[in-house]
Amino acid sequence: MQTWTQMKDIQPLAAQMLMNSFKKDRISHAYLFQGNRGTGKREMSILFAKSIFCKNREGAEPCQSCRDCHRIDSGNHPDLHWVEPEGQSIKKEQILHLQKEFTYTGLESNRKVYIIVDAEKMTVNASNRLLKFLEEPSQQTTAMLLTESGPTILDTIRSRCQLLAFQPLNPFRVQEKLVEEGVSESNARLLSSLTNNLTDALEMNEDEWFANVRKLVIQLIEVLQNKPNEGLLFINHQWMPHFKERTQLQRGLDVLMLWFQDVINQLLDREESIIFTTERERLNQAAMRWSRQSAARSLTDILEAKRKINQNVHPNLVMEQLTLQLQR
Ligand SMILES: [Zn+2]
Repeated sequence: MQTWTQMKDIQPLAAQMLMNSFKKDRISHAYLFQGNRGTGKREMSILFAKSIFCKNREGAEPCQSCRDCHRIDSGNHPDLHWVEPEGQSIKKEQILHLQKEFTYTGLESNRKVYIIVDAEKMTVNASNRLLKFLEEPSQQTTAMLLTESGPTILDTIRSRCQLLAFQPLNPFRVQEKLVEEGVSESNARLLSSLTNNLTDALEMNEDEWFANVRKLVIQLIEVLQNKPNEGLLFINHQWMPHFKERTQLQRGLDVLMLWFQDVINQLLDREESIIFTTERERLNQAAMRWSRQSAARSLTDILEAKRKINQNVHPNLVMEQLTLQLQR
């Protein structure tokens, strides 16, 4: 459940524009929410719908507890319609169906709202159908088109929508949001260092594969520091089996880079920047094993390994070479 105060933290401009429309009592017939996955488009569209329907709204803020607010939360408000891709696309029939629903006046009020998710997936026929629909707006209808890819929406549709650009989130905001969503502080730090996409971060938090990445990185460090003779053995028997795809290996190396950044942070007493906050003891040991220069060199080596993986060098070779470099 989101409030405008929260949404303003994440997407100040878009939230302000929508809030203003209540202040000025001028709600557009159609909005295009454009921005990457995980930037809050869906959350904002739900909140906007609540503000439209809530009867106890104060300013722009819906009460979150009336019947309208509850029914929007549970996904069965009679005057709020969702259109989402069926399979790969949004088809003409779906828009026709929507249009038919709209020929009846609102069940509870005269207001009707529809939200089209992944609007760029509308087929040409669906787009043309929607265009007709937008050209004859009824006073009380509001459309929200959500898309990651604005340019692929028909110009004729775009020009009828008020455009709201959703910006990538900054890492601190992502971290705060993750903690609000119940992610542990230390995981939130790690995840927000890897992605500014809230949705991806939340998925990674639930992902067992990713949890094991973190463990493997710590184990690799342990081996490098205390059992250097077993480095290659560890890579071949523990590390590689977990990273079957190149993209997975890239993620593993990203986490490894964060570790060496932390070693540098530790050496420089940059307490507030440390990501592996639950690994203090290991970081202390690492700060004795690695100097600032050698940790920085390790970062360069990891970057080089990432580059080679992109260039299709065999992952095993890359990892073996990297391990030897890190042990220098
Ligand atoms: Zn309400």
